[in-house]
Order: sequence, then structure tokens, then C-alpha cells
Amino acid sequence: MASTGYIERVMEIVTKRNAGQPEFLQAVGEVLDSLKPVIKKHPEYEEAGLLERIVEPERQILFRIPWQDDQNKVHVNRGMRIQFNSALGPYKGGLRFHPSVYVGIIKFLGFEQVFKNSLTGLMMGGGKGGTDFDPKGKSDSEVMRFCQSFMTELYRHIGADADVPAGDIGVGGREIGYMFGQYKRITKQFEGILTGKGLDWGGSLVRTEATGYGCVYFCDEMLKGKKDSFEGKTVIASGSGNVAIYSHEKVTQLGGKVVAMSDSNGYIYDKDGINLDTVKRLKEIERKRIKEYVNEHKSAEYTEGCSGIWNVKCDVALPSATQNELDGKAAETLVKNGCIAVAEGANMPCTPEAVKVFLNSGTLYGPGKAANAGGVATSGLEMAQNSQREAWTFEEVDAKLNKIMVNIYKSASEAAEEYGTPGNLVNGANIAGFTKVASAMMAQGVV
Ligand code: NDP
Repeated sequence: MASTGYIERVMEIVTKRNAGQPEFLQAVGEVLDSLKPVIKKHPEYEEAGLLERIVEPERQILFRIPWQDDQNKVHVNRGMRIQFNSALGPYKGGLRFHPSVYVGIIKFLGFEQVFKNSLTGLMMGGGKGGTDFDPKGKSDSEVMRFCQSFMTELYRHIGADADVPAGDIGVGGREIGYMFGQYKRITKQFEGILTGKGLDWGGSLVRTEATGYGCVYFCDEMLKGKKDSFEGKTVIASGSGNVAIYSHEKVTQLGGKVVAMSDSNGYIYDKDGINLDTVKRLKEIERKRIKEYVNEHKSAEYTEGCSGIWNVKCDVALPSATQNELDGKAAETLVKNGCIAVAEGANMPCTPEAVKVFLNSGTLYGPGKAANAGGVATSGLEMAQNSQREAWTFEEVDAKLNKIMVNIYKSASEAAEEYGTPGNLVNGANIAGFTKVASAMMAQGVV
């Protein structure tokens, strides 16, 4: 048997070594807590120092990003890439451009990514990167110069078989294009070193839609487990970025109605269902604020402040904006208002208190690691197409995505059952994701 207190001792080390990084400690604490029955069953993990190794990134790269704005003023941002774990394959995970970015956030995202990527069943390790640059309000040429400067350092650390970044908050097709162009210019190699590329130059169909579609496929599996479906359901999808937009699209296709969406300033409520074409135009093309929606749709209301969105009555909630956007009080309100299912489109959007409320009330709850894995899974499919110099049809990729999400639900539910907490997909996803990484690390020796 593993000695008592192994998990607690590892948590103590992590807490000491990563002071001032609450998001990272929150993510590690949740995973380690789920792993108690696994560690009990596998005493060899303690002997191999497996937990001590899995909580420490393999490599952390920090760098300076100097760039000039349209008035030639020089700015300096901080860039980073955390290469967390490569037991299952090349590091894979997005790049986040947001002023809140610092090492603690990128480490939490990189850590989560390790288990998420394992759950997809594809050969991908986990990593994450980003910068505190804020693309909001910048001109296209400023964003281009920034992306070029960012890649001028990052190119040394990535590679099609080493580390393949993708998009995340603040990084969409435009930014991926500028970064890819700079990589090619420096290295003269046209390689699959980024995913989320344009369809004409190596991108995969469905990658844009994948995280939102995948989250809804996952939630649909949770509902099917209760002999229910999206048909006739009222839904909230917070945020109005890539994940929220394509969650809305799939919910609507499955017969549900999305009535509330948000951005970091506030939220809109439209009892008739939010018109997705308007949101896509405002956010994807015009890059405007969500409050502009009410100028075009008289049935809609705008409320300042994004946290109020959880007071809207709904059957299903899909938090799809950012970490810790839904707290314990919001969770209680959702449950009181009759919400039966929550699937996380964003990474760690529910606080630990909120997760407790959902689990204790019997609300179906799909953690981000499992529910939003469709994005990285489709990135994995983009890598496979790049390696084979092939392009699959929309239907082919969508069918593969659906199958992956169904399998993730199945392995998380089975692991939850096997380890004595049936229905608890937090434990199930953590355990199912961990066991594959752990056995690969055991096989690969102390590295
Ligand atoms: P986008 O940049 O496309 O959109 C993010 C949305 O969330 C925007 O509406 C933004 O509003 C809002 N938002 C961002 N930060 C905050 C904040 N601090 N408070 C309130 N709202 C905020 O990002 P994505 O849609 O790609 O990502 C959303 C979430 O999904 C993130 O947690 C990301 O890690 C996760 N995710 C994304 C994947 C992907 O494939 N894109 C894959 C898996 C997970 P505003 O415009 O005002 O900033």
C-alpha cells in the first residue's frame, strides 16, 4: 500500500513551490483529491515519485516580446510556453492572449491539458502558452507585428513532433495566420507546427466549431444517460467567443434554445432565443461588444456585469468564458431555478464551491477536462491530416469528433463507477485521464 499522506505531502510541496499561483493550486488540488483510490491501488507510483513528477512542468520558457504600435511607440509584453508533460506525445495546447495571463494561469491550463489530451485517446502530451498582450482595441497591423515578435522567440521551442500550439482566449484564425507566416519565414519550413490554421493552408474542417460542438455532444450524452435530450431545453452559454458561439450553433441544431450570452462587460437575454448570425457578425467580423446586440433585436435586454447571467432561468448551463466565472452562490441559484445539467465549455469556469453544489444536488456536471476536449481532439485530427498531406470532409471530421466525445463520456463514467463514485464525472475524468499518463510515465523510467 502507498504510505498514508502521500497525496497530502505532494500537495504541500506544490503549495510551497508555487506560492502566489492560486489557479494552479486549485487545479492540482482537485486532481490529486480525485486520485486517492488510484494511489491506494498503485503503491508503486509513490516509489517512482510519480505524483511529484506529474505536478512539475517538464520545461517553462519565459521570454520578452517587444513590438511597436501604429505610432511607433515601443511596448514590451511577457511571453511564455509551459511544456508540461510529454509522456503521451508532443506537447499540445493553446496560446492565450489576455492581460490577466501570468505563469500561474498558464500552468493551471497546461496541467489540465495533460489529462484532457489523454482522455481524447490521441497521442498528445500537454502544454500551454500565452502572453499578457491584450488584442482588444489593437489594429490588425499591431496584432500582426505582435504575433511576429511572439513567434520570433517561440519558433525555437516548437515543432511538428515536439510542441504544437493552437488558439485559446484572444487567439483565433487571424493570430494563428500571422504566427504561422513568421515561423515559415524564419525556418523556411511549411510544417504543421500550429493547429487552427486556415482551410486553404493546412487547417481542418470543424476545428473552428470543435470545442463548442464537442461540449454539446458531451452534454447530450449526460442527458441521454437520464433518457433526456436538448429538445425544447432553455440554455445559457456564457461568453460570446469561439466556444460559446459554436455551442449555441449545436444546441440549436439539437432543438434547444440559447437565451443568454455575455462578454467581460455584461450579458444579453433574449427570451425568443439569441440570433446567432448577429452575434457572429458582431464578434467574429466587427469585433464589437455584446451590448450592441440589443440595438438590432428589440426583444433582447442588456445587463451590465457578466456574473448576473447565472440568474437567468435555464435547463442547461454551458459556462464558456473563463476560469472561476461561476461561484457557489451562482450554482445555488441555477439549481434553485431548475437547471438540470452543466457542461464546462471553458477551462475551470466553476469554482470548487460551485462544483460541490452541483455534485451534491445531483445536477449533471461535466468538467471542462472532459466536456471541452473536442477542440484539442480536432487539433489532433488536424495534425494527422497534415502528416498525411490529406484533407478530410466536414462530415468525416464531425463524425470522428462525435465518437471521441461519446468515448470520453463513457470512460469518465466507467472510471467513476469503478472507483466507487458513480455519476461523479470529476473523479471519473481525472482518473481516466491520469491512468494512461501514469502508465506511460512508469514505462518510460525516471525522466
Ligand atoms: P475567445 O477569446 O474566443 O472568447 C472568450 C469569451 O469569454 C469572450 O466573450 C470574452 O469576452 C469572455 N471572457 C474572457 N475573459 C473573461 C473574463 N475575465 N471575464 C468575463 N468574460 C471573459 O475564447 P474561447 O471561446 O476560445 O475560450 C473560452 C474558454 O474556453 C477559455 O476558458 C478557454 O481556455 C476554453 N477553451 C477553448 C478552446 C478552444 O478551442 N478555443 C478549447 C478548450 C477550452 P471579452 O471579449 O469581453 O474579453
